[in-house]
Amino acid sequence: MKQSGGVEGAGSAVGVVDEFRRLYGAGPEGVWAAPGRVNLIGEYTDFNDGFVMPLALPHRAVAAVSRRTDRILRLHSADVAEGVVQLGIDALEPRSDTGWAAYPAGVVWALRAAGHPVTGADVHLASTVPTGAGLSSSAALEVVTALALNDLYGLGLTGPELAVLAQRAENEFVGVPCGIMDQMASACCTEGHALHLDTRDLSQRQVPFDLAAQGLRLLVVDTRVKHALGDGAYAARRAACEAGARALGVRALRDIPYAQLPAALDRLAAAGESEEVRRCVRHVVSDDHRVERTIALLDAGDLRAAGPVLTEGHASLRDDLRVSCPELDLAVTTALAAGALGARMTGGGFGGSAIVLTEESAADQVTKSITEAFASASYTPPRIFPATPSPGARRLS
Ligand code: ADP
Ligand code: MG
Repeated sequence: MKQSGGVEGAGSAVGVVDEFRRLYGAGPEGVWAAPGRVNLIGEYTDFNDGFVMPLALPHRAVAAVSRRTDRILRLHSADVAEGVVQLGIDALEPRSDTGWAAYPAGVVWALRAAGHPVTGADVHLASTVPTGAGLSSSAALEVVTALALNDLYGLGLTGPELAVLAQRAENEFVGVPCGIMDQMASACCTEGHALHLDTRDLSQRQVPFDLAAQGLRLLVVDTRVKHALGDGAYAARRAACEAGARALGVRALRDIPYAQLPAALDRLAAAGESEEVRRCVRHVVSDDHRVERTIALLDAGDLRAAGPVLTEGHASLRDDLRVSCPELDLAVTTALAAGALGARMTGGGFGGSAIVLTEESAADQVTKSITEAFASASYTPPRIFPATPSPGARRLS
């Protein structure tokens, strides 16, 4: 897999049209784009019916797509060495091993399973979203495919409906038990905003997040590491959260108000629940509260004050949920020591990316300090870039 770090090149609509024509012998019916995302605050809350606050990155997957009527799906990615993958849409089987193609194929499967009359497609994709960096390259791939097919087949599905189908593709077809945040962010974010999302009913609000107007910058620090521990740990945290909700007699942890957290923790201890369960409950309930606090600060136009809330969120993920790692911790502590307003890991953890909120004037120093700290620790050089709140999925041509 090629690691495409910048926003230049692969995201261009012209490039994918030319390549589509070369691969399939005629131009595509259209070109669509769907972005990766970073989550500002609210981590491991989306499978607890809780709140999240992602924004779309300028990095995006672009897809050139045409319909077919012969029940064949042809898939190609500019970012993998493999050639065109050809599949019969009636033979698509969940968890059959089709590698990267499982993401777009899973979307076709999910659309058809929901009764939508998709009869085949030719697809060529190119993406600038770094893969496996916690920036949702997988959701970008799914959502761009879903939107293209929605438009071409006139399915009339909304952004949230496409996101739910894309999540189903990832959960059931690919076999990754992710929450709904990534697909909703890619499908529904808008330029200049963060998306305040209630993952229970998918109600949402676009919250103005104009960093530049306030002289601020949000940096993404892709640590470029992924620790093997991550996959099993995600499932274990999820199970601990579900055990906590069961023991507290609520549908999901989102139903525990922050003011009742101490009492809830006492009840869990009295019921003999493990320390791990109590830590997970404390993280989720307090992170839902941090989303609320961040929203209030953004609505009041006080973006700077959100910095310490992000940093608190990191401490909770590191100490209570225990999903950080030395590289993420180093990025966060170094950023803060270099004068950042706040920093935290974002995404599933055990590697991937951190975000740093900083004065624009301090951004270069923060970047330099993190780069040097990684070099001193003999870590892989991190990739650091600004996150400007970018448009969600849309048709380009
Ligand atoms: P993340 O979504 O955080 O980037 P995931 O592990 O969920 O990480 O998804 C990464 C996987 O998505 C890759 O291993 C690959 O299978 C697929 N993928 C992402 N981008 C592309 C691409 N441009 N071309 C082909 N496959 C891709
Ligand atoms: Mg993913």
